[in-house]
Amino acid sequence: AKAAAADRPRRYAADLDEQSDEQARVGAELRTALDTGQFRVVYQPIVALPSGRPVAVEALVRWAHPERGTVPPDHFIPAAERNGLIVELGEWILRTACAQAMEWQAAYGDLAPARMSVNVSARQLAEPGFAALVAAVLDETGLPAGRLTVEVTETAVFGGGQAVQSVQDLHDLGVHIALDDFGTGHSSLGLLQTVPVDVLKVDKSFVDSITMAGRHAVIATALIQVSAGLGLTAVAEGVETAEQAAELHRLGYELAQGYHFGRPSPEPSFLTPGPSPAAA
Ligand code: C2E
Ligand code: CA
Ligand code: CA
Ligand code: CA
Repeated sequence: AKAAAADRPRRYAADLDEQSDEQARVGAELRTALDTGQFRVVYQPIVALPSGRPVAVEALVRWAHPERGTVPPDHFIPAAERNGLIVELGEWILRTACAQAMEWQAAYGDLAPARMSVNVSARQLAEPGFAALVAAVLDETGLPAGRLTVEVTETAVFGGGQAVQSVQDLHDLGVHIALDDFGTGHSSLGLLQTVPVDVLKVDKSFVDSITMAGRHAVIATALIQVSAGLGLTAVAEGVETAEQAAELHRLGYELAQGYHFGRPSPEPSFLTPGPSPAAA
C-alpha cells in the first residue's frame, strides 16, 4: 500500500492546535453541520475468514460538506472532541446506526448484518450518563443489546475512572466491547485485566507487515495468541489483499475488515447481491 503523506488531505489548522479563533470557527461550522443534517453514516463489513461472509458492520461517520464535499472523520472528530460536540454528534451516530440495523433487518431479514459496531470517543465515555443513554437508544430503536458492539480505544480507557465505569456498565447491559486500533495505544495487555473486553481490533499497521519478508508477522501472531488465550475475538483491520487475508487465516484470525472485503458505503453491497433491483 502506498499511502504517501502527499496523498492525504490537509487537516484543519485547529487539528494542529494552532489558532483558537480557527478552533472556534471549525466548532461553529460543526454545530451548523449537526443542526442542518450534514453528517452521514457509512458502513463497512466485518467478515469471517476464509469465507468472506459478513458478520457485522462498522458505522463510520462522514461530513457531507456543502462546499468541500465529503470530509473524512480524521479531519473533524478531533475538533468535535475538543469543543465537546462529539457528545451530541456521537449520540446522533449511535441512534442512526442502531435504527439502520433494524431497518436492514426488516428489509433483508437474514441477509442483514447480525451486529452493528459503533465508535465511541473518550469524551462520550467520560459522561456519567453514557451507558444509560445507550440503553435508551437500544430501547427506542428496538436493537437488542447483544447485537451492538461499542469500539473504544485503549487511550480512552487507560486513565480508569468514569470511562472504565461506562465500559463496565455497557458490558453489564450485554453490549460487546471492542478495543480499537489494538496494539498502538497505552498499556495494551494490562488493560485487558481491568476492562471487560470482548473483541480486539488488531491495528492495520500489524496487518500491513504480515506479508513482508522477515519477522514482521511476529506481533500479529502474538496478538492472536493473546486473544485466543483470553477467550476474546480478534478482528484484523485494514486487510487490502487476498494474500493478507490468506496469511491472517493461516495465523488463526477468524474475522477481518478492509477494502479487500468491502469499502464503507451507505448500504453495503452484500445486502443487495446480484443485479441491482430496479430503482424505486
Ligand atoms: P477506525 O475506527 O480505526 O476505523 C477504520 C478506518 O480505516 C476507517 O477510516 C476505514 O474507512 C478505514 N479502512 C477500512 N479498511 C481499510 C483498508 O483496507 N485500508 C485502509 N487504508 N483503510 C481502511 P475512516 O472512516 O476515515 O475513519 C477514521 C477514524 O475516524 C476511525 O478509525 C475512528 O477512529 C474515527 N471515526 C470514524 N467514525 C467515527 C464515529 O462515528 N465516531 C468516532 N468517535 N470516531 C469515528
Ligand atoms: Ca473503529
Ligand atoms: Ca481501528
Ligand atoms: Ca484508526
